[in-house]
Amino acid sequence: MTSARADVRETIARLRRTVAELHGELTRNGLVSWTAGNVSARVPDRDLMVIKPSGVSYDELGEHTMVVTDLSGELVEGDLAPSSDTAAHAYVYRHMPEVGGVVHTHSTYATAWAARGVPIPCVLTMIADEFGGEIPVGPFALIGDDSIGRGIVDTLRASRSPAVLMRNHGPFTVGKDARAAVKAAVLVEDVARTVHIAHQLGDVLALDREDIDRLHHRYQNVYGQR
Ligand SMILES: [Zn+2]
Repeated sequence: MTSARADVRETIARLRRTVAELHGELTRNGLVSWTAGNVSARVPDRDLMVIKPSGVSYDELGEHTMVVTDLSGELVEGDLAPSSDTAAHAYVYRHMPEVGGVVHTHSTYATAWAARGVPIPCVLTMIADEFGGEIPVGPFALIGDDSIGRGIVDTLRASRSPAVLMRNHGPFTVGKDARAAVKAAVLVEDVARTVHIAHQLGDVLALDREDIDRLHHRYQNVYGQR
């Protein structure tokens, strides 16, 4: 019992460091303004998550400023109030057991697509690789209850994409861990920008369904270091 508790302390300490460091990727990749945006990680085998505190500047974020909440969003550990998006992250963890990390930004190009309420079409190999098809739009939802979380989960369940563009709001991304969710947040902004520019140049060319399936399968199962 005591050693199980020591293990979970160690896991939380590690996730605090990881989640704090991953917030640096949001600023490095130009995905966030001021204090907007947040990363969280599920504490494996516990109904807990580590998430950014609310309204704290990126320069002040470190392992000790991260907070721990339960999966109903109640503060369990930390001196600061959790992110205002905590309820949405918690809803995702409660309903998608395979998800270990969640990211939210208002990155410019992805959010511009969200403002139009138009999915990003699958017209690049990179979109097929990472997203497995078009990047879907989720419903408009106000902060304050489960509606954002429900919109994210319902949309992602109907898709292979780890990213959803919440209408009039911005992207939420998920991954097997927080790093994978950050990667999806970086890539959704990248492809949102490229496809936007492609549209300025003229018609974009759709990929065939079979090619999308082949690309997605290879990237998800074969690509990278073994
Ligand atoms: Zn937001």
